[in-house]
Amino acid sequence: MRIETFPGVATALPAQILHAALNFVLPPRCTSCGVQTGSTGGLCTECWTQARFIAAPQCCQCGYPFELDFGDGVRCGACLSRAPYFDRARAAVAYDDRIAQIVIAFKHGDRTDLAPGLAAWMRRAGGELLQEADIIAPVPLHRRRLFSRRYNQSSLLGQPLAHAAGIPFIGDLVIRQRETDSQGHLSPSARRRNVEGAFRVAAQHKDMLKDKRVLLIDDVLTTGATVNAIARRLKREGARTVDVLTLTRVVRETSVS
Ligand SMILES: [Zn+2]
Ligand SMILES: [Zn+2]
Repeated sequence: MRIETFPGVATALPAQILHAALNFVLPPRCTSCGVQTGSTGGLCTECWTQARFIAAPQCCQCGYPFELDFGDGVRCGACLSRAPYFDRARAAVAYDDRIAQIVIAFKHGDRTDLAPGLAAWMRRAGGELLQEADIIAPVPLHRRRLFSRRYNQSSLLGQPLAHAAGIPFIGDLVIRQRETDSQGHLSPSARRRNVEGAFRVAAQHKDMLKDKRVLLIDDVLTTGATVNAIARRLKREGARTVDVLTLTRVVRETSVS
C-alpha cells in the first residue's frame, strides 16, 4: 500500500482490504509514480518510456547489458574473471528509483495484485530460458521471514510464469536453512561468504532433480551471490543447468558473483 499517494487515509486497516476499497472508489494509478492510469498494476506512459528494459546486446551468461554489440556468445569481464555457477541470468528491466518503488510495493506493501503484470515483463525477457526449463523454482525466504511477510514474492512471480509456460513449479525445491543478513551493505566478497551454506535442496526433491534444467526466479538481482550459491547447490545435487530470471537487476555494479 503506497500510503503517500493517499494522504489522510487511515492506515490501520489491513492493506489488502484498503487497497481493494480504494480501487473501487479511485481510478487505478501508476505503480511507480502514482498518477492515474488506465489499468491496475501498470505503469503510466511516462514511467513506461523511462523504464530501461534489458535486451541484447548483453553478456551471454549474466545478462549484463552491453553498450556495443560484440556478437553472440560474449561474456562480460566479471563472468570471465569469476564464472558464475548459474548458466544464464536474464532480467526484465534495469533497477532504478521507479522500479524500486514497484519492488517495495510488491514485496513489502502487500501489492500482490502486481504479480501477473510483472511476470508478463519477465516472460518477454526470459523467453529462451522458459522454453528450455524443466522445472521452475523460487529463491526461497527463510521460514521466519516468510512468516512475517506472509508470502514469498519470488513464488508469486514464478507461479504465473510456470503456468503460462506449462512447466512444473516447485515452490519448496530449495530451502533457506540459515537466515542471511541483509545483503545491501555488504561488499561482493562479504555477500559470497554470507550466503555460503545458507541453502539446501529439499530431500523429497533430490531424486527428481537429476539432469533437470532448473529456472530460478527472484525479484532483484544485485551481485548475484544468492542465486550463485543456490545454483552451486542445485548442480551438486545433479541439476544439469541452472538459469536465473529476475524482474530487475542492478546494472551499475559490474560484479556478478
Ligand atoms: Zn508513472
Ligand atoms: Zn556476465
